This record gives sequence, C-alpha cells and structure tokens, in this order.
Amino acid sequence: MSSGKGHIVGGFVFLWLFLTVLSNYFFVPSAMEIVIYAAIAIMFSLWPDVDIKSIGQKLFYSIFFLTDVALIFYFKELETAAYFGLLIILPILAKHRGWTHSRITAVLLPTPLLLVPMGMYGGTLLEGLPYYFAAVTGYFSHLFFDKKLI
Ligand SMILES: [Zn+2]
Repeated sequence: MSSGKGHIVGGFVFLWLFLTVLSNYFFVPSAMEIVIYAAIAIMFSLWPDVDIKSIGQKLFYSIFFLTDVALIFYFKELETAAYFGLLIILPILAKHRGWTHSRITAVLLPTPLLLVPMGMYGGTLLEGLPYYFAAVTGYFSHLFFDKKLI
C-alpha cells in the first residue's frame, strides 16, 4: 500500500489503535481532542511522501506556500521567509524513501508538538505528549505500510 488514499486508511487504523491505548491506559480524550489527534495522525501519515508527487506533497507544499506568502506579505518577515523557503526544498532534493522514511525522523520531526501546549496556554510538556504520539503514530503507520519498519 503506497498510495495517498492507502496511507490515509492506514493512518486511521493506527489512529484507532492509538485512541484505544490512550483511553484504556491513560485518559479518555474529549471529542475535540479526538478530532485534533486524528488531524495530526492523518497529516503525519501522509508527510513522508512529501519527497514525491503525492497527496502529501500537494497538501504540505500548499501549506508551505501559504505560510511563505503570509511571512512575506503579512508579517514582513523576509529573512524568516528565506530560511523557510530553504528548508522546504530539502524533501524534494532527497531521494525517494530517504530521510523522510526514516524511523529517526519519525521520532524527531514531531517533537515541536510537545511544545504546543506551552506556547498556546502555558501548559506543560506532559500535556504535549498525546499530540506528539498522535503524530508519531501517523508517521509509523506510513512506514509500516511502506514496509520500512520490518
Ligand atoms: Zn512512502
């Protein structure tokens, strides 16, 4: 299974496993938390194929484009926009199923999600863990269905 739609389905399967473990061993998430975890997991289940023409590439490069436009025209942050532009080229320069399909990247790339509660409302790192693990779950679903885990 390597199509974008296949990875979305795979992301939902892994999301179901994540929510089952979360609600049985930690806490029962609210409906809004489930929606957020689902959005994060599905986005990360698509992310690794950003290095080839795919649904993930269209989605993320659309987000990158809008972010760069906002940095340039709304925030007037030209230097930040230049560095952002430099960074977002990297996945396209890499070989397919290279660093975007690495287990190390799957663990490291979502780490900024740990900081979201701190930045949004002065929360703790512990409160960021479910967002982080939702992302890692989605990421590993992609690697699993690309047979990069075995
Ligand atoms: Zn892939």
